[in-house]
Amino acid sequence: KMKSEFVSTVSHDLRSPLTTIKGFVQLLPKVGPLTLQQQEFSAKILKGVENITELIEDLLDIGKIEAGVGLEMDVCQLDTIINKVVDDLRSQAEAKRQHLDVVLPPQLPPVWGNDLRLGQVIANLVNNAIKYTPDGGLISVRANNNNGQIMVSVQDTGFGIPLADQPYIFDKFYRVQSEEMEGISGTGLGLAIVKSVIERHNGRVWVESEPGVGSTFTFILPKYNGQQVD
Ligand code: ADP
Repeated sequence: KMKSEFVSTVSHDLRSPLTTIKGFVQLLPKVGPLTLQQQEFSAKILKGVENITELIEDLLDIGKIEAGVGLEMDVCQLDTIINKVVDDLRSQAEAKRQHLDVVLPPQLPPVWGNDLRLGQVIANLVNNAIKYTPDGGLISVRANNNNGQIMVSVQDTGFGIPLADQPYIFDKFYRVQSEEMEGISGTGLGLAIVKSVIERHNGRVWVESEPGVGSTFTFILPKYNGQQVD
């Protein structure tokens, strides 16, 4: 508990100086024209600030999810959440000429959950699929009703994950080290967030993957049974 509080306090304290750095770097061109080299350096500072900001947001999120803070539950329609998230990420897939498909049954029963966090789960999985799949690849998001459980999977034709790394990818800060992954930035917290959220919803998440072929991330959640389940 102390560790979570520490992370949350420090993350908050880090945010405001970062906002200052970002604000003033963005103001530089307004003071006078920048040389090409100065523009290049400012862009690097901004990229660095963005990376740390993402890390802090992820750390704050994981702290909140683990502490069960802000996890108000309600009846959620996963198909609506999937469509919205995919719409938001479609332009990123298009920029890599990837085919992003959504396959949903005509009627998907609701689940009991927090729609913001469930949206974050799907966004993290689709975002990873886009990030770790080469240009022109295929990504599909499916959902179905499976024996009283809702099953959602995100499949890609990407780099895949070596068997030896698979047990660790849901751990905080774990990232696969390989040539293909070089230059792809990330915090190593996305899948840890996915796992915490799904477990908080009494669900399960797992991966099936083959290097050079692709990966499928699947989670199952209990169907809403007409009563509050938490
Ligand atoms: P991040 O993407 O920020 O590194 P994540 O926790 O989301 O962190 O993922 C952990 C690691 O799992 C990634 O660094 C990557 O090595 C691997 N990974 C996640 N999703 C995929 C995927 N769809 N295809 C291949 N590797 C993946």
